[in-house]
Amino acid sequence: MKLLEGKNVIITGASRGIGKGIAEVFAEHGANIAFTYRSSDEKAKVLEQALSVNKCKIKGYKSDASDFQAADQLAKDVMKDFGSIDVLVNNAGITKDALLIRMSEQDFDNVMAVNMKSVFNMTKAVSSFMLKAKSGSIINMSSVVGVKGNAGQANYAASKAAINGFTKSIALELGSRNIRCNSIAPGFIETEMTESLDKKNVEHWREQIPLKRGGNPKDIANTTLFLASDLSTYVTGQVINVCGGMLT
Ligand code: NAP
Repeated sequence: MKLLEGKNVIITGASRGIGKGIAEVFAEHGANIAFTYRSSDEKAKVLEQALSVNKCKIKGYKSDASDFQAADQLAKDVMKDFGSIDVLVNNAGITKDALLIRMSEQDFDNVMAVNMKSVFNMTKAVSSFMLKAKSGSIINMSSVVGVKGNAGQANYAASKAAINGFTKSIALELGSRNIRCNSIAPGFIETEMTESLDKKNVEHWREQIPLKRGGNPKDIANTTLFLASDLSTYVTGQVINVCGGMLT
């Protein structure tokens, strides 16, 4: 059964990692996909080609989600190209880890801008279209770190905690118009990015997780699929931990 047949979705930051995994699962479920990236032109082209075998419309847009005007323009371009925006997945994110004593103002500001302000930018940009349609699902990629904190990631944890507060507020504001807003809080998800980490550390982290493995992009994509689809029409304002039991 295809769960997103005919739905038009925006996924930010889908050239690799979790965003790419979400795009793959959404395409299998019949969605038309507008995805963004910041600099990976080649990877975006490859993804466009790979997903077009599913006979849905797929288009990559080079757009900086932390830029308010660019987000507004993106939503207008997607409306022109696709005709509606049914689902928004705010997935783009970065890390600039350091202990507070060594964290620069620039690294704090950048992480807040790309992780948190982007969610405001994109949600605001699509909200007028969703309000007119009286329908929509917005899914924000948070992190377990935003719930529990993490030494060496004060900027990242703050940005993800802010996303959770934003999500709950938007759910309260837009619920009466049939627009839902939820967050997903992934735990340790093994992507291309984590391949460069010290193997011993990765093994140690896996051991700490009750399910004894790191997650993969598909684990997150399947939860995103649930929240994007009509299977979750009575779910809004929630932060769903997808972390193998890391956070209970
Ligand atoms: P990733 O592999 O580093 O991919 C990040 C994606 O975001 C890329 O497509 C990148 O595009 C894009 N991006 C970065 N800055 C952007 C900007 N300003 N505007 C538009 N796109 C931008 O990251 P990931 O591990 O898949 O993580 C995805 C999301 O899940 C993030 O929000 C992250 O915080 C969250 N998360 C990840 C984990 C984990 O363990 N991996 C755990 C918890 C939460 P380019 O390729 O062009 O740079």
